[in-house]
Amino acid sequence: MKVAVLAYHSQNVNGSTYATNDHVALATDLSLIRRRGIPVLPLGDLVAAWLGPARDQLPPAAVALTCDDGTLLDWEPFDHPTEGTQTSFREIVATHARESAVSAKGMLTSFVIASPDARREIDTGCYAGYPLSDERWWAEAQREGTIDIENHSWDHVHACVSVVAQSEQRKGDFAAISTWQDADLQIRRSADYIDRALSTTGHATSLFAYPYGHVNRFLIDEYFPGCMSQHRVRAAFADRPAFWTEESHRYEIPRFVCGLAWRSPEEFSRILDRASADR
Ligand SMILES: [Zn+2]
Repeated sequence: MKVAVLAYHSQNVNGSTYATNDHVALATDLSLIRRRGIPVLPLGDLVAAWLGPARDQLPPAAVALTCDDGTLLDWEPFDHPTEGTQTSFREIVATHARESAVSAKGMLTSFVIASPDARREIDTGCYAGYPLSDERWWAEAQREGTIDIENHSWDHVHACVSVVAQSEQRKGDFAAISTWQDADLQIRRSADYIDRALSTTGHATSLFAYPYGHVNRFLIDEYFPGCMSQHRVRAAFADRPAFWTEESHRYEIPRFVCGLAWRSPEEFSRILDRASADR
């Protein structure tokens, strides 16, 4: 089994080319995936099969789609002040499902930031005051079904956030989450908050994406395996650019991040070549 878990950021709109706009990149990448005939599978289903008795039935090569930070552009079109109307990630993924004649259900996993205060400060500091991090769409998206909402921490230890849930106020480094108390605030409290927001949808979070892809041995070996009944996280995703295989650690599953792991259709094509090799 080789799964390429791909990560995009819908707020990455700095132009209208592949390299400057993740909406253009996602649509282009999906057309290439269709031409190759590689299945795009829901991340939650893959985790369930991989952790359970159905692991042998997983396809030899697959793609899973994720996006981070949970901006509104994941869900709805956005009139960008200089780059025009941006098609939502939801619509791009739904189009792929239609053209592939498969269900779109759960085809995109959106990892969102829980803290309302952190989201407001990120909007002010990073998005010119546009309320892009508003949570009003989470439950609606979850009910519609194309997007599964999952956990991307309490406050991302984001540099724009005045007081972060890290005991020494170290920002921009999720590997600094190395005590039970900080981990509980960043991961379990975040899961509780998001699950409350989704309480009418029948979905509860069970996946985590490390902010900045930063991991440490405490989180991987102690916190995540040690108190599953508290945080309910079944698997966690980092951003080492590699395939998810039988040998991966459930709390350090690799992901390819658009703009870091590849920057052009040619580079993306080479990732797909590697996914399909040695079938
Ligand atoms: Zn992030």
